[in-house]
Amino acid sequence: MNRKKRRVLVLDATVAYSGYDPFMVSEEQYTTSNVASEIRKDSKLAIAINLGVVKVREPSKDAIENIVKRVREHCEEPNLSNADMSILALAYELSNEGKDTLIISDDYSLQNMAKILGLKISRYGRPFIRHILYRVKICEKCKRKYDPDYPGDTCEVCGGKILSKVARRVRVHEEGH
Ligand SMILES: [Zn+2]
Repeated sequence: MNRKKRRVLVLDATVAYSGYDPFMVSEEQYTTSNVASEIRKDSKLAIAINLGVVKVREPSKDAIENIVKRVREHCEEPNLSNADMSILALAYELSNEGKDTLIISDDYSLQNMAKILGLKISRYGRPFIRHILYRVKICEKCKRKYDPDYPGDTCEVCGGKILSKVARRVRVHEEGH
């Protein structure tokens, strides 16, 4: 017998404003308390959370630490909020539990990082990202490359400003439903 894995959805804050309707969805839906606290109380997502249609689940400390580490390695930390990190960590954790996990988000930075991590992500509202952007730290003046965890923001050789620059872009396709 061919048993299909049940899909679970992880919703980020953008779905509260994209017209997405949690009450029209049959899949299990999750979000985090970080997201729940940042959305408007009269949004459909907030109401669905209050009624238990969307479950609030906190990712483990391990999952968060793992995601923060990977985000830093890719110089994406300035682009992602704590709520974004919590969504990635929850999706990572649910995937590790063997669930077919799909993040729903219209946020381009979140889409980008999810793709880098190999997590499934789709959007509801605006078009999906076209490329995964891989960033590195590089000196603006002398182009010297720095480790992602280099603590300063000025170049130790020329004193130039260290920027997080896109080094590589890879064309992507959306997961779809
Ligand atoms: Zn330099």
